[in-house]
Amino acid sequence: MTSIQFLKGVGPKKAELFSRLGVETMDDLLFYFPRSWEDRRLPGKREPLPILEDAPLIKGKIKSVRDLHTSSALRIFKTVVETPLGEAEASFFKRHSPRFDVFAPLRKDLKEGRTVWITGTPEDPLFVSRLRADEYYADDDARALKMHVGRIVPVYPLTEGLTARFMREAVYEAVQAGHEAVWDFLPPELAARRGLITRQLAARAIHFPENNYELVAARRRFIYEELLLLALAWAIKKRQTRSVQKGFSYEIKKTLLTPFRQNLGFNLTNAQAHAINEIFTDMQAPTPMARLLEGDVGSGKTVVAISAMLLAAENGGQSVFAAPTEILAEQHFLTFERFLKGLGVRAALLTGRVKAAEKKKLLADLAEGKIDILLGTHAVMGEGVKFKNLRLVVIDEQHRFGVRQRAALRAKGDRADMLIMTATPIPRTLFLALYGDLDLSVIKEMPPGRKPIKTSEATEDVAFMAAKDEVAKGRQVYVVYPVIEETAEADMKSVKAEFERLKILFRGKRVDMLHGRMPGELKKQVMEDFAAGRTDILVATQVIEVGIDVANATLMIINNAERYGLASLHQLRGRVGRGKHDSRCLLVAHSRNGDAADRLRAMVQTANGFELSEKDIYIRGAGEILGVRQHGDMDFKLADMSRDKDILELAMADRETILAEDPNLEKRSNAGLHKRLHDLYAARWNLIDLA
Ligand code: ADP
Ligand code: MG
Repeated sequence: MTSIQFLKGVGPKKAELFSRLGVETMDDLLFYFPRSWEDRRLPGKREPLPILEDAPLIKGKIKSVRDLHTSSALRIFKTVVETPLGEAEASFFKRHSPRFDVFAPLRKDLKEGRTVWITGTPEDPLFVSRLRADEYYADDDARALKMHVGRIVPVYPLTEGLTARFMREAVYEAVQAGHEAVWDFLPPELAARRGLITRQLAARAIHFPENNYELVAARRRFIYEELLLLALAWAIKKRQTRSVQKGFSYEIKKTLLTPFRQNLGFNLTNAQAHAINEIFTDMQAPTPMARLLEGDVGSGKTVVAISAMLLAAENGGQSVFAAPTEILAEQHFLTFERFLKGLGVRAALLTGRVKAAEKKKLLADLAEGKIDILLGTHAVMGEGVKFKNLRLVVIDEQHRFGVRQRAALRAKGDRADMLIMTATPIPRTLFLALYGDLDLSVIKEMPPGRKPIKTSEATEDVAFMAAKDEVAKGRQVYVVYPVIEETAEADMKSVKAEFERLKILFRGKRVDMLHGRMPGELKKQVMEDFAAGRTDILVATQVIEVGIDVANATLMIINNAERYGLASLHQLRGRVGRGKHDSRCLLVAHSRNGDAADRLRAMVQTANGFELSEKDIYIRGAGEILGVRQHGDMDFKLADMSRDKDILELAMADRETILAEDPNLEKRSNAGLHKRLHDLYAARWNLIDLA
């Protein structure tokens, strides 16, 4: 591997800067892809392309230059340039130095009569012929014309000390030196079938495309290969997971399941029954279950999970149920106690709040098999938590947990079954690409009698009037704020301050407060009071986002609604609409920067979590939503699974064809794919077949 220091102008200091960008070798530089591309062709030669940014540019003969001193420490070097479209102006700005002439180089390069190219930003968006200059090049500088102007130009992520211009030159060298020797691992007939250009050509064209077509083709080529490799890795991973034998078999005895059903007080929806069926089939299979259960907020996933845990218990197996917050775990525990009454099933709750002595006893019982179902927060993943016979791992609200935490929990059992639950559904193709190792069950139907929740934007005044009305009718209200305490950020209201204000505003009503930093006992008390209807208005943070289930609560007011992601807004909204009364969700926004307006609109238009999550993916991008980016499960350089849906579909289809013909990628034609997959994923994903 040739070190980057081989390049002219790159010594140890610059190398250190490159290394900050993850670039150590010439090869790294060759594959250091642009963040975007600028169209710096002459205005008449441009062809629009969505990914191409139009760059302001002046080309012409210098007519005059002037060096201006302003009263401040700023100096301006102003050039007037004659272009075919008329006169244009470009000004260079520099801080004055008493020691040397800051414009000496400019005065030398930009002589009257010379033909030059100048790039920059328009001083006024309406006058593209007046630029605040950035880079300039002489028209007889052949090198500059190869990489900086008169063409499509790459724009790279930079770091302090590396200029855009220097980076472009460095990459240009790397491309010259290396692109022809790039290894193309795709089977040629596959590339031909999909109309993909060679990797050699793509490696050059991704940086310095000669035209729009080359740029599109190069991106397509790299996006395709990233997605194909990921799809293949998932398939191999899934096969590997499925090849393990549980060495244990389940029997549906119904000793617990039947009385549980009778206890419920309602009938399962068809969708719930169907999901339970799929789960039971998995649990009875000889290989461990790995299943994702998707269902909108309030669709009744908990009952499905309890059914699975009871099947395990009927067969003498222990289960663990992990919830993301203490409040949710406690809520679930109350639900479990209610549903499991009289069944003789021993359930226990473990959170960070359980006292040491109590915890010690609990852990001992667990290890001896005296507890059938352990419910809790992240605490259940702790070192000291040992099971006698863990058979089933359930993870609620999976988006709050990382992949690693899932694996840690699963490892506590010997080839345990795993059920993951989420209210943030994702489109099918994305699911396959992202969670390709999981099977999927979907609850598409809500329990009967649910009323649609009306969502609208409102001012604070209107929202509080609505709250007064609801309370007068005997209903209860949630008022959510983004932070617990006031911060320097002025436009964010806090739970503590607003709680004091609302107590006065709603004098005579019972106002209470809930946030994550309150002592556990107190939180529990507040929740119990609200659930029992002893509180009218609950002022809270996002802690109430998941799991809270109070049928008499009919109004959700979300303050600073612009601060929340769609998934959170939808979860918060799901706290109401749980009983027989009409419910409403009011969004109080204080600004609407960035995507905020899109999100608020989506909330008002759509009550369906599935549709909403699809919108969310387009607003935010898939990686971010699913939290996979920060978990490091995949790092694409170019692909974006939501934007590149069509390419993803091709890659998924090709994966099927490839693996059907050659399951272990042993054929000569697949040797390249095999090696590339091995290099990228074998160690990271522990893919034994590729080792
Ligand atoms: P989520 O899918 O959001 O986790 P829950 O499991 O908390 O939803 O269920 C929401 C509420 O619906 C709970 O009060 C639960 O008891 C109730 N529920 C679940 N299934 C049914 C059903 N089939 N009929 C009526 N109510 C149900
Ligand atoms: Mg739930």
